[in-house]
Amino acid sequence: MSFDTLALQPADPLLKIIGAFRRDTRTDKIDLGVGVFRDEDGNTPVMRAVKLAEEKLLREQQSKSYLGPEGDIGFVERLADKVLGNAVPVERRHGLQTPGGTGALRLAAELLAKAGVRRIWVAAPSWANHAPVFLAAGIEPRFVECFNIAAQHLDLAHFLEALDGATPGDAVLLHGCCHNPMGIDPGPLGWQAITEVVVRRGLLPLVDLAYQGLGEGFCEDSLGTRILLAAAPFGLLAYSCDKNFGLYRERVGALWVTAPDAEQGAIAHSNLLSLARANWSMPPDHGAAVVRVILEDAELTRIWREELDMVRERLAGLRRALASEGRIGKVDLTQIARGKGMFATLPLSRTQIDWLRDEHAIYLAGSGRINIAGFTLSTIARFCDALRALDR
Ligand code: PLP
Repeated sequence: MSFDTLALQPADPLLKIIGAFRRDTRTDKIDLGVGVFRDEDGNTPVMRAVKLAEEKLLREQQSKSYLGPEGDIGFVERLADKVLGNAVPVERRHGLQTPGGTGALRLAAELLAKAGVRRIWVAAPSWANHAPVFLAAGIEPRFVECFNIAAQHLDLAHFLEALDGATPGDAVLLHGCCHNPMGIDPGPLGWQAITEVVVRRGLLPLVDLAYQGLGEGFCEDSLGTRILLAAAPFGLLAYSCDKNFGLYRERVGALWVTAPDAEQGAIAHSNLLSLARANWSMPPDHGAAVVRVILEDAELTRIWREELDMVRERLAGLRRALASEGRIGKVDLTQIARGKGMFATLPLSRTQIDWLRDEHAIYLAGSGRINIAGFTLSTIARFCDALRALDR
């Protein structure tokens, strides 16, 4: 036996960009590639609420014994109350802790495959890891080109039309808020229209909510999720706390299945537990315990929400500053202010993206995606000058 049947796999393109950025010795380099929040000094700080919760855990945690495939149930339940509130009653939702939002998506995909679902409909472009995650579980992603990058516009009617043609029992993936990579969300009326077609066609919605609180506000950002999961008999919610608690490498996530009654929910949940057991057995504890400690404590919750508000306001401020630069050649920055969350995608060719990197030390993903938090108020002017030079 040997591994000579295997082919060398390309490195993740974004990891390549991160490496090239690190090696670049130019002092004025700008990183718009990697998807983490940065403050005005370019740091990705540990939140104060997180530090305080960690101190509390250090003082008070009595054991590190195993929990179980469901992870920290206090974390799962507190989070469900915050995210779903009364929209989905307790007896309709069954959750477990997962290793990040990615773990939640992978488990959701495996449950779908086990239940006989063959394909999932996705508005394109979508997060680059969605396709590999679904394919790895044997689910075919059906991409529908819905976003016009030059116009910064979501053609929702086109997506709804595609869903109308889907086979009952197909799954549909929806970004709960702060679409990655477009930053464009359907809005309340859009969510209602999606819900109508999902219910009418008997489709199974999977909501990927990875940026709650970075868009319009913590409660506002789960409005669409609540509308949809309240109405659809069955659904899935894959959640990440890695951005809104700044816990990235701690891998904090959760997955809920929603079902019409407690009995059907319990069956789906038992399948999630056995799939989790076969994958990672139990999720890593620390980050979820931190989130639980924050959510159990009114003062820590207040501090965290204040910090999250600052993250959101910084993103919104940078979006307004970019928009005030107007249209530069093919890039219409005015629409950026209407976008939400960390990302936008600009209509730039690969040659232009390479040129921005080589000539101006500005790094962005090969797709033209930019991380808004990678800017500071002072680097926006330099970025716009570089865009103007592109056109000359
Ligand atoms: N879903 C979307 C849309 C994302 O952008 C990301 C991370 O970038 C994830 C899920 C996964 O998040 P996590 O880092 O918690 O696995």
